[in-house]
Amino acid sequence: MNEKAFFKLSYGLYIVSSAANGKASGCVVNTLQQVTAIPARFSVALSKDNFTEQLIEESGVFHGVVLTRDVPMEFIGRFGFRSGKDFDKFEGMNVLEDTHHIPYLTDYACAHFTCKVIHKVDIGTHVLFVGEVLDAEIVKDEPPMTYAYYHEVKNGVTPKNAPSYQEVKKQIGWRCSVCGYIYEHEELPADFICPVCGQPASVFEKL
Ligand code: FE
Repeated sequence: MNEKAFFKLSYGLYIVSSAANGKASGCVVNTLQQVTAIPARFSVALSKDNFTEQLIEESGVFHGVVLTRDVPMEFIGRFGFRSGKDFDKFEGMNVLEDTHHIPYLTDYACAHFTCKVIHKVDIGTHVLFVGEVLDAEIVKDEPPMTYAYYHEVKNGVTPKNAPSYQEVKKQIGWRCSVCGYIYEHEELPADFICPVCGQPASVFEKL
């Protein structure tokens, strides 16, 4: 099997959010997609370790935001590499609520959708939710971020619990144990802050 074949698959980049029992969270995914047209239905696969996955299980509703190309890496880090179990990811952000009281981000968003879960499939490490689209709106008329653009132009990395994660081999430098960012230098400055997830030098591991 040639693992490079997997890199030929194309995806978008999205934030999926949900809310239940007074708590809300969201995470970056590349697995949101439309699967039927009439009625419009989406699927999304989320890791069972993921707090947003638990919230969708409880609420039966999820929200999808399509990210734009100008999204900063700090924003990706906040929503893609830190757990909503520990802190409120939406605090201090520009947020609106959809018709089902799920918060969603309006910055770096070009479209958003509200979906009601109609099927749930256990696929091992992840849960695949199929949702009926209840609402869909354009946020701003800008091109969406693609997964290829994220990797090639923004030099983005993939967290370990993403379906498309692949083990990185033969690299030198230091790796952030939280987000996987590689600092390609022999020495890591003591006051270094990870540019993706904002963690200090102490969480870095020598490669
Ligand atoms: Fe990091």
